[in-house]
Amino acid sequence: MTATPRFAIAIDGPAASGKSTLARKLAERLGLVMVNSGAMYRAVTWKALRENIDPSDTAAVIDLLNRIDIHCGEEGMTSTCTIDGVDPGDELRSETINSNVSAISAIPEVRDKLVALQRGYLDHTSIVMEGRDIGSVVFPDTPYKIYVDASEEVRAARRIADGEVDSVAKRDAADSERATAPLKIADGAVVLDTSHHSIESGVDAAIEILKQQGLPTLP
Ligand code: C5P
Repeated sequence: MTATPRFAIAIDGPAASGKSTLARKLAERLGLVMVNSGAMYRAVTWKALRENIDPSDTAAVIDLLNRIDIHCGEEGMTSTCTIDGVDPGDELRSETINSNVSAISAIPEVRDKLVALQRGYLDHTSIVMEGRDIGSVVFPDTPYKIYVDASEEVRAARRIADGEVDSVAKRDAADSERATAPLKIADGAVVLDTSHHSIESGVDAAIEILKQQGLPTLP
């Protein structure tokens, strides 16, 4: 019996588009590990801020990057990320992180290091990975790519419902306009607008897209 080769499902989209929930539910339904790449950029931002490093001081951020140990693994079916052995937990979702993460994630050296860790998951497991550049940069060759979107009103309302303070439009502008790996619809990605979907109908729609993209029937 030959095993199904490992593969990555890329879920990209702007902030609060519903991509995290979709990726998590999709991974549950398909029995795959869900990898939250945004948490990795947030973790580096958390560490920089703890060390009083100005996120716009690229040299200081690169110096930090060279002396910290970033470990990405998984617990159960969800990715984990520790820095020097510490899991920042809920602190990753703070307002301060929300307003500084785009500056850190625009630094090419930060991206190089985290993209290598993201690709490393495929060495041992199949994954659903969500982020901004998963279909365009991290796994450009995967046939399974969805770009999740939702109207600006729906996205703002979702953030408020989450109890988070997050200037979504500002973060999206920074993430889309940066020079390295900007947020965009990857070649081959199908756009899924979740504005009028329930969580379950959004997952159903995503599975239909993936089947059309050739996703094998999983056990
Ligand atoms: O997905 P999430 O909103 O948690 O991502 C936080 C931030 O991390 C994004 O606003 C973006 O700046 C950065 N990010 C990125 N590339 C990814 C995932 C996240 O640049 N693949």
